[in-house]
Amino acid sequence: MVIGLNPRWSARPDNVYVVDAPEQIAPIVAGAISQGKKITVRGGGHCFEDFVYSGDAKVIIDLTNMNRIYYDAATNSIAMETGATLLDVYEKLYQTWGTVIPAGVCYSVGLGGHVAGGGWGWLVRRNGIVVDHLYAVEVVTVNSSGQVKTVLATREANDPNRDLWWAHTGGGGGNFGVITRYFFRSPGATGTDPRKLLPNPPAKVLFNATGWNLNNLTEAQFSRLLINYGSWHAANLSPSSPGRDLACLFQVFHKSNGQIIALTQIDAATPNAQSIMDSFIAHLANGAAPPLFTQTTPMPWLQFMKYTSTANPLANDPTLRAEYKSAFMKQPFTATQAATIYRHFTRSDVSNKNLNLILSPYGGATASVPQADTAIQHRDAAYKALWAAPWSNPADDAVNIAWARQVYYDVYADTGGVPVPNAASDGAYLNYCDADLSDGAWNRSSTPWHGLYYKGAYPRLQQVKLRYDPRNVFRHRQSIQLPS
Ligand SMILES: Cc1cc2nc3c(=O)[nH]c(=O)nc-3n(C[C@H](O)[C@H](O)[C@H](O)COP(=O)(O)OP(=O)(O)OC[C@H]3O[C@@H](n4cnc5c(N)ncnc54)[C@H](O)[C@@H]3O)c2cc1C
Repeated sequence: MVIGLNPRWSARPDNVYVVDAPEQIAPIVAGAISQGKKITVRGGGHCFEDFVYSGDAKVIIDLTNMNRIYYDAATNSIAMETGATLLDVYEKLYQTWGTVIPAGVCYSVGLGGHVAGGGWGWLVRRNGIVVDHLYAVEVVTVNSSGQVKTVLATREANDPNRDLWWAHTGGGGGNFGVITRYFFRSPGATGTDPRKLLPNPPAKVLFNATGWNLNNLTEAQFSRLLINYGSWHAANLSPSSPGRDLACLFQVFHKSNGQIIALTQIDAATPNAQSIMDSFIAHLANGAAPPLFTQTTPMPWLQFMKYTSTANPLANDPTLRAEYKSAFMKQPFTATQAATIYRHFTRSDVSNKNLNLILSPYGGATASVPQADTAIQHRDAAYKALWAAPWSNPADDAVNIAWARQVYYDVYADTGGVPVPNAASDGAYLNYCDADLSDGAWNRSSTPWHGLYYKGAYPRLQQVKLRYDPRNVFRHRQSIQLPS
């Protein structure tokens, strides 16, 4: 109740309120305000940093049991309480209405933080990111006189609270109030039939696993794999790309493990799906060593989602401590960057088999939405990189944190140790939050943490903060600051 999925983060609050329904939240917020206690909110508890379970959190509102999903006639949308977790969402939507939202991969991620941060998942290139389907958001806010007000904000052009909706399309959780419900309806959906309000997932996918062993590859072959991943995504950024329905998670582990694996899926109904898949795998392997194995399995979509969301022990083990770093990328890594990654993944002074880098897709449908329409500002990115250092023993904190910091700093050494928005990189992913981005020792660029997450959207987010949380009640170590 007082630790996150990442057990590095723990709190000593006065109270943890496990709520069952949205209407229970306003009185808890009012009580905490009157006693001057800092409030934090737990959706699914997957925050990479201590934004929920911090030393100064006095009242934690835990939404675990607030997880209903239903058709809401008043907004003609699918309402989802913000404690719902992703696999529950996928099952409920598919089994009830045959629909989907293009949310994240891991089954236990909570909607609360995930949606507000602009969540992405397997369907990112086919259907965009999750906020591309967000119609409205309901938020418990606190005004300048300390009164608690529940606000429903929609994307309707004439909604006076539209800016609050916009701020939840990438502005992130823990900034404006307690989000009680998200309401989903895709733009352009017509009628009131709940089966027609959101996209249909693929009936079936082709799921391919292709693998190499790092210890069998030269630096040049390893670099080729990374660069090939980037070049395919840069060439297939457009929503009209023939590879739009394909998504690949490419994961490299430290040499003590050696595994390199590309997991690729494509909607089996896409014309020429198998040949698009084959040509992608051929592109990936081109100039590197032939894979040790490659296998394609057709799977019903829901089975595929259940499999990939639950079968990864690193994502689901609550005893693992972890440090993460992220980057949006527009172009392939340079030869120097790839060689730097090789150097850190073949270091002999570290031996943690879990150290890994995941490249994941972006672009496709995501690139079809104008950047100004949502708060997330990475519509030009072709793919993302996530460096992850998971470990078990607290005694190993220093060595693992140091590894993650060093590989990231070195890869982006030419731009001050961080992926500044430029022609090649495009900032960092808010949902993969990283406190080091605010630390001058690790971010030596002239781009502050908010420039990496929000780019030019930060001043507008600050204005929304001023309007809906003028007392800065909802805050954490990287929350949006009130304008000065
Ligand atoms: C194993 C794992 C797998 C992941 N996979 C993906 C993925 O596939 N795609 C992806 O995009 N991201 C992924 N993420 C990142 C994930 O989207 C973020 O960590 C997200 O913020 C988690 O939301 P949460 O509600 O579970 O977390 P929490 O820790 O509960 O919350 C995260 C932040 O949001 C705030 N918050 C949560 N709920 C509310 C609310 N109702 N109102 C106001 N603020 C709230 C919290 O206070 C905190 O600041 C993954 C993370 C992990 C650990």
